[in-house]
Amino acid sequence: MTIEFVGVTKRYPGGTVAVDGLSLTVEDGTITVFVGPSGCGKTTSLRMINRMVEPSAGTVLLDGKDVRESEPSVLRRGIGYVIQSAGLFPHRTVLDNVATVPLLSGWGKRKARERAAEMLATVGLPAELGDRYPAQLSGGQQQRVGVARALAADSPVLLMDEPFSAVDPIVREGLQDELLRLQSQLGKTIVFVTHDIDEAVRLGDKVAVLRVGGRLAQYGTPADVLRH
Ligand code: ADP
Ligand code: ADP
Repeated sequence: MTIEFVGVTKRYPGGTVAVDGLSLTVEDGTITVFVGPSGCGKTTSLRMINRMVEPSAGTVLLDGKDVRESEPSVLRRGIGYVIQSAGLFPHRTVLDNVATVPLLSGWGKRKARERAAEMLATVGLPAELGDRYPAQLSGGQQQRVGVARALAADSPVLLMDEPFSAVDPIVREGLQDELLRLQSQLGKTIVFVTHDIDEAVRLGDKVAVLRVGGRLAQYGTPADVLRH
């Protein structure tokens, strides 16, 4: 799915301009990484894709269709979303955490759990971890569950907001490798947010460098961005 930002600005109540005139196209089946210091508008940009945040001006299009034509709840259910803290429900087992997404999409309970088990395997988690609670997993394992849950949406689009920032560097590299492997297999359109330029260069087909004030400073391939 192609994601287009066309002259998108977000001004929060109180006056902060988080994103200022952003125009760029995330091509179908690619990973685009938004990178820049804290407060430069990365999360805000990401959240305008699934209407967690509404732009003050400009338009976000999914395959040419204005996101405002789709209900926010439908977009959020349909678009995989992974955050730094993994955001797992603490009182549900790992398997049920992942099954939540297909359940919400109207799958039967049994099929949803089968799907969840499949997704845990896809992200390289042993099946027996499915019966545990999130707190009984390592940080890296929890992030894998977060990715599994996002994949369970079976959406062509995956939004990832600093998904690997809370895990130690060795585990992070493993997760990055895994994401690249998954991507070559599944060909999703991924928008990935990080403050780490090395991670951006490693993962991105395209890298969008934002600066505080929400303006796009650079946009191109990792090689283009490193040259500047
Ligand atoms: P980043 O993800 O790059 O750290 P954010 O998109 O979270 O940046 O934030 C960009 C700017 O908008 C920051 O100055 C932040 O304080 C501000 N901001 C973010 N969310 C809100 C909000 N809900 N209300 C007011 N200001 C916000
Ligand atoms: P904060 O800006 O306070 O850091 P979070 O990044 O924790 O907020 O995210 C806010 C919450 O919104 C998350 O815990 C998440 O569960 C929920 N949420 C909103 N939209 C979605 C979505 N599309 N998919 C999954 N969770 C969502």
